[in-house]
Amino acid sequence: MLDINKVRADFPILSRTVNGKPLVYFDNGATSQKPQIVIDAISKYYHEINANIHRGVHTLSQLATDAYEIARGKIQNHINAKFAHEVIFTSGTTHGINLVTNGFASILKPGDEVLVSALEHHSNIVPWQMLCEKTGATLKVIPMNENGELVMAEFDKLLSNKTKIVTVNHISNALGTVNPVKYMIDKAHEFGAAILIDGAQAVPHLKPDVQALDCDFYAFSGHKMCGPTGTGILYGKEAWLNKLPPYQGGGEMIKEVTFEKTTYADLPHKFEAGTPDIAGGIVLGTAVDYLNSIGFENIQKQELELLEYATKRLLEIEGLRIYGTAKEKTSVISFNIEGIHPYDVGTIIDKLGIAVRTGHHCAQPIMNFFNIPGTIRASFSFYNTKEEIDVMVEAVKKAQLMLA
Ligand SMILES: *Cc1c(COP(=O)(O)O)cnc(C)c1O
Repeated sequence: MLDINKVRADFPILSRTVNGKPLVYFDNGATSQKPQIVIDAISKYYHEINANIHRGVHTLSQLATDAYEIARGKIQNHINAKFAHEVIFTSGTTHGINLVTNGFASILKPGDEVLVSALEHHSNIVPWQMLCEKTGATLKVIPMNENGELVMAEFDKLLSNKTKIVTVNHISNALGTVNPVKYMIDKAHEFGAAILIDGAQAVPHLKPDVQALDCDFYAFSGHKMCGPTGTGILYGKEAWLNKLPPYQGGGEMIKEVTFEKTTYADLPHKFEAGTPDIAGGIVLGTAVDYLNSIGFENIQKQELELLEYATKRLLEIEGLRIYGTAKEKTSVISFNIEGIHPYDVGTIIDKLGIAVRTGHHCAQPIMNFFNIPGTIRASFSFYNTKEEIDVMVEAVKKAQLMLA
């Protein structure tokens, strides 16, 4: 069982006030808060071992390199990658996806097809559009239904021998839908297509097992899983990472450079040009340790309770509609109140100390599907409570009265 008071005490920001009210932080889908142990680890790095990695023979450089590689190993274990060199440090999900689309620019030909789901974040749409523009490949969209679930029968029909790569998020940031990624991975492979899973919204809630999933790529960000901003991971199967060309050229990614020809370093360094966010990478390892110390079973249990409670309480409000009612859902609730713009509700409840996201959540095609400008999105983490949900529900009712 989760000792919620003890957990909350790990997060210093949760005890601050906003606009004179205790902070209620329900914008975890945008970024999570950071526990003290993560905040301290950043400071400790700069106090004690700051140096550039993989370069110097001196002691600090060695300490920093070791810490960075230990963090890579922690993440390898966490996602159950077969090799540490399949774990590429990135600046986030967006970087990871662009690394892959850039690589596929040398693989795709006109007539090839890329399948993207209707539930994607802009960062898993736009790079694929750019790729298709560059190569003459065609982008096809896997449709969704009114509940915010992808329609698997349509996915099956879209797949063909022309399909070269499929991309889909594990969990939707806008609606909270958990997608049937295992089914999609196996199906894509039947047609010889590669598949990338955008795990940005999944890693705060679950421990992905990339070998069990058998996905070719899995991208995520550190900052949504209690880690620092500017950090992330791209997992790729060794064979794919060897096949793709480097994303960026520079220091650290080479074996030998002459003006005639440069040979590239082995994995993972081939994809890690330049000086990375060393502290960030190391501390992402700390964040993963922290989440595992809480335990993903505990995290899921707490978040599911919050989701059920908030759904029930919000639906007591007249004229409130929830978007995204998939059977498999995480602790994200997107909603609107009849006749009221989501931005106005967000602004009023911010005055009451409540942080929610309003707008299109970087997923305009989903908003277009529902024919709405945006939603109010409350996304819960394991450190949130039912009492906080009560505060939000009362605040939303107040906003409704004021705006009616
Ligand atoms: C947040 C998010 C991204 C983008 O992550 P960055 O950290 O901004 O690179 C991509 N996909 C999904 C589903 C997200 O939630």
